[in-house]
Amino acid sequence: MGEPALPFSDRTRLRRYHWLGKYDRDTINSIIDAGIICQVGYVFNGEPYVTPTSHWRIDDYVYWHGSSASRMLKTQQTGIPVCFTVTHLDGIVFARAAMNHNVQFRSVMAFGNAELVEEDKKREALAAFTDKLAPGLWDYARPPSEQEWLATKVIRMRLEDVSAKINDVFAGDEEEDLASDLWSGAVPLYVGQGEIIPDPRLAPGIEMPDFARLFRYTRK
Ligand SMILES: Cc1cc2nc3c(=O)[nH]c(=O)nc-3n(C[C@H](O)[C@H](O)[C@H](O)COP(=O)(O)OP(=O)(O)OC[C@H]3O[C@@H](n4cnc5c(N)ncnc54)[C@H](O)[C@@H]3O)c2cc1C
Repeated sequence: MGEPALPFSDRTRLRRYHWLGKYDRDTINSIIDAGIICQVGYVFNGEPYVTPTSHWRIDDYVYWHGSSASRMLKTQQTGIPVCFTVTHLDGIVFARAAMNHNVQFRSVMAFGNAELVEEDKKREALAAFTDKLAPGLWDYARPPSEQEWLATKVIRMRLEDVSAKINDVFAGDEEEDLASDLWSGAVPLYVGQGEIIPDPRLAPGIEMPDFARLFRYTRK
């Protein structure tokens, strides 16, 4: 076992509950890859905005996309600083002391500058996004028209100044509360998956493809 990975900068060094911090890339990537949605924070006209959107990762970059008309994308394509987060809510912790109830979670926070993905890399990036949702989805679907293509922008941010925080512990109750007869414990929470519902407008006789039939959302 080597030394634990250190924060890249003082900005990503956890102060509050610093022992919950992780800085190794495998942990950070696993939290990012297990998520489908992120929040991207940026400043527009002096005001902060935090926009939920979908993300994916290729190597050392996280990506998000949207309409060319989106204010978020038009602002970010100029290369402004952004803050990217991914959060998984893993459970609720009931404590013995009223002030010690808590949540279990995995989260990542990354700082960097947004970059517009150039046209020649956009296809590869979007294919990686859809195939992350369900392998084979990009090749199965009708390819984008020229108009659809132009209406879509992809932004990326290099993962460098990044931290993870993982809280998977029980209540941090005091010794005297631990000795009490009050109950304490955790309720694990997961994102669930329901029965697949074919589009009611589906023409008769179209079989469900494997990417849909075999789709499983599991906690990773
Ligand atoms: C689902 C969820 C629920 C939470 N509920 C609460 C709550 O109710 N109250 C509360 O005070 N806090 C809560 N937190 C923790 C919260 O995210 C912050 O870590 C905490 O508030 C400390 O903030 P700070 O600015 O003082 O962090 P500092 O420790 O000063 O942050 C310094 C640096 O540490 C890193 N960092 C801080 N927090 C995180 C994080 N969550 N994930 C990854 N990197 C991080 C960042 O790089 C940041 O720049 C929750 C977190 C999650 C994911």
